[in-house]
Parts: sequence; C-alpha cells; structure tokens
Amino acid sequence: MMIYVATYPIRTYGDPVLRQVTSDVQNIDESIIRLVEDMIETMHEAPGVGLAASQVGVQKRIFVYDIGDGASVVLNGRITESSGEFTYEEGCLSVPGLYWPITRPNHVLLEGLDLDGNEIQIEGSELLGRVFQHEIDHLDGVLLIERLDPDQYKQAMKTLRSRTLNPDQERAQRKLLGRG
Ligand code: ZN
Repeated sequence: MMIYVATYPIRTYGDPVLRQVTSDVQNIDESIIRLVEDMIETMHEAPGVGLAASQVGVQKRIFVYDIGDGASVVLNGRITESSGEFTYEEGCLSVPGLYWPITRPNHVLLEGLDLDGNEIQIEGSELLGRVFQHEIDHLDGVLLIERLDPDQYKQAMKTLRSRTLNPDQERAQRKLLGRG
C-alpha cells in the first residue's frame, strides 16, 4: 500500500483564518490522522519548529511541533500553568522573514490529547515552552505581532506594509532561526 503525504500552503498575515478561534477535535478519525501527517510534512518542508492547524486553513485545535527530537502532535491543547520569563527571537511561518525579541513566560504546562486520545501533560521551557505558547496563540486566533511592545508593533506594521522579500534570502534566514 502506498501512502501519499501532501503539504499545504501556509496561510500568511492578512488571511482572516489566522484570526479565528479553533474548535476542539471531537473524534480522532482517519481524516484527523491524515491531517496531522500532512501538517508534519508541511512543517518540516517549510522548515519550521511548529505549525498550528489554522495556519493551513483548518479550524481545529491541533498543532504539531519538532524542536529537533522528532515530530509530535497535541490535540485540544491548553496551557494550564506558566512561570518565569524568557526573551527569545521569535518568528512565524505566517509572518515570513520577520523576527522580534519577545518576552513570555519561560516554563509552561501544556495539557491536551495525543493522537490515540490519551490525556497528556507536557512541561516545556525555553524553546519548547515558546513553541507551545506560540502555537496555542495561533489556535486562539492570536499572532505574535500582538505580543510585541508598542514600538516594535509600530515598526512591524510599517515593515509588513512596505517590505518586498527575496524568497531565497527568506529561505536562508528561516534555516538559521527557529520559527513556527
Ligand atoms: Zn506562527
């Protein structure tokens, strides 16, 4: 049997789907498993360290991530505890080519389901904690731009309105920095 894995185009800034709040997965059926496989392929191809379903136009509470230890998926994820502070140069596949130092909690506790429907709890710090917060934001319709301070935000809006990025430069830059 052949299994075909497809990649999705990634929705970018300005697409209204990125502003919508996703719904919990009710049944983990064949279509969800297929979607997760395709999201992992899309994330790896980008390349990125995380990808939320809304970034591929699907309004379901699903994200995938891979910070170098292999790909994982969390369904119906929510952050239930957070502490500390961590500043990280953060980027987003939906806002390609732009990065900002953003301060968020360092440690988080993520609760959700795995692909078999088992309840899971994962603690994340530093990059992993950041990826969890960034992807959960996506699932709540929030982009990293909303996490910027007022000066960064003003500059970001200016850049987003005026920039013309060379795709090769952008791709090279992506490889250097973690992004989701
Ligand atoms: Zn993102």
